[in-house]
Amino acid sequence: MSVETREFQTEVRDLLHLMIHSLYSNQEIFLRELISNASDACDKLRFEAIARPELLGSDELAVELSVDEAAGTLTIKDNGIGMSRQDVIDNLGTIARSGTRKFMESLSGDQKKDSQLIGQFGVGFYSAFIVADKVTVLTKRGDEEAVRWESDGQGQFSVEPSFKLDRGTEVILHLREDAKDFTHLPRIEGIVRRYSDHIGLPIRLRKKEGEVETLNQASAFWTRPKNELKDEDYQHFYQHLTHDFAPALAWAHHKVEGTLEYTSLLYIPTRAPFDLWDREQSRGVQLYVKRVFIMDKAAELLPAYLRFVRGLVDSADLPLNVSRELLQGNRTVEKIRSALVKRVLDMLEDIAEKRPEDYARFWQTFGAVLKEGIVEDQANRERVARLCRFHSSAQSGEQPEVTLPKYVERMGAEQNAIYYLTADNLSTARSSPHLEGFRARNLEVLLLTDRIDEWVVSHLSEFEGKKLESVARASKDLEAKIETPEKAKHEGEYKETLERAQTLLGARVEAVRLSSRLTESPSCLVAGEYAMSRRFEEMLRRAGE
Ligand code: ADP
Ligand code: MG
Repeated sequence: MSVETREFQTEVRDLLHLMIHSLYSNQEIFLRELISNASDACDKLRFEAIARPELLGSDELAVELSVDEAAGTLTIKDNGIGMSRQDVIDNLGTIARSGTRKFMESLSGDQKKDSQLIGQFGVGFYSAFIVADKVTVLTKRGDEEAVRWESDGQGQFSVEPSFKLDRGTEVILHLREDAKDFTHLPRIEGIVRRYSDHIGLPIRLRKKEGEVETLNQASAFWTRPKNELKDEDYQHFYQHLTHDFAPALAWAHHKVEGTLEYTSLLYIPTRAPFDLWDREQSRGVQLYVKRVFIMDKAAELLPAYLRFVRGLVDSADLPLNVSRELLQGNRTVEKIRSALVKRVLDMLEDIAEKRPEDYARFWQTFGAVLKEGIVEDQANRERVARLCRFHSSAQSGEQPEVTLPKYVERMGAEQNAIYYLTADNLSTARSSPHLEGFRARNLEVLLLTDRIDEWVVSHLSEFEGKKLESVARASKDLEAKIETPEKAKHEGEYKETLERAQTLLGARVEAVRLSSRLTESPSCLVAGEYAMSRRFEEMLRRAGE
């Protein structure tokens, strides 16, 4: 097959146009992206070599940077997995990764604003065109014929068979006139030390003839002693791991030794991923076995309600050939998982206590997901419940601020239940007639407006020994609580009205009663003490039950 010219996918063309014309001030991020790809390619090879050790042979996996000042080129070379012809066409001609797609969706059309976004998203391979007016990729995968890919980023790329002795990929950047200083070795060194020090394989810089210097520590980030790692290092590693360019909110790094031996590094993001609401998607952390990357999103390592957590676990106890199936019901995995849950809850409690503003933001982003834990995680139900934030009738702000412990603390001696009302939204809740009697008697009512709340309260029947009771129910206790002496006086007076209403409504209601619930509204609907709540009924009906 000879040279074949192909068109980029339209989206890629738009992206490239932006790269080429951006006056992006952090040009150097391209190097981080390309080194990150080289490192991923080496991880993939290591993984394949578990089943076929001959692949690895005696090679040491590494990334090598070299420059040719005369030609004005910078080359990033790895001996990782490499790409076949089809891989090249698929990966370097379309937008495969979700992060880049998200970036495209965020574009405003304003060139200046959009180029700022490049840094916030990290746009992968195509960032090469921030500094290069031509990019050549030479790559070889396994026993397949080597491939040469080339493009000036203007809309087309070419692919052709080529010759390359050894496995792996070489990305050759033909630097633009205004980016020629990227052939300057100290400049490259500085960038690598700043952005790529956490990479777990050697990044080498070829200096003068034959002389090669390793620029980084080249040990897996999470294996390094905690006291040597700065916040900034953790943030850089977070970006590398997640492609999320908003800084992480918090992290927890643990090395566990003893009967179980593993390292965990867990992060709580600031921003929600686009698929947060898909309970099947985006869940779990990366799994490594003895430093070898095994899989992304190992769902068995975290329960679904902690699916916003990112990070990794490196286990010394699992076999290298562990599969998703093997993870299920595995004792080691179960132990690790329950420890990880504790660590995440520790982290959240710590933020809630020491950084209330950050916690409020966290709650706004992930609260409704965390709440699922009350339903899902019986063992930690009370801890999760303490972390929840609610609106209440005693609070008028837009942010939910009330915690269950605070509510219980404020309860008067004569109050023995936690009152709540579920509603579609806050303003409906606040104007509900059900609240009138409670307001008049200064009884606080939690206002629950998330879709999931109905399930939450059905699983959290009590907290610190106090029952949770819906104010929209005809419970005897509750009626007694808001009973007023006047009610008895009026019983006789309204007898006829009540009977007339009962006759009119017939079997559609269980009973028509005089109540002290209301101070302004003439009437309201109340669910029977043991009946399904009205909202629950409504939800089931909408779900087609
Ligand atoms: P991402 O790294 O998030 O997948 P990129 O745009 O950085 O997105 O890269 C796109 C794809 O191109 C990668 O997923 C990978 O399949 C392929 N690729 C890029 N660089 C290399 C490389 N050095 N070796 C092998 N494959 C590569
Ligand atoms: Mg990448």
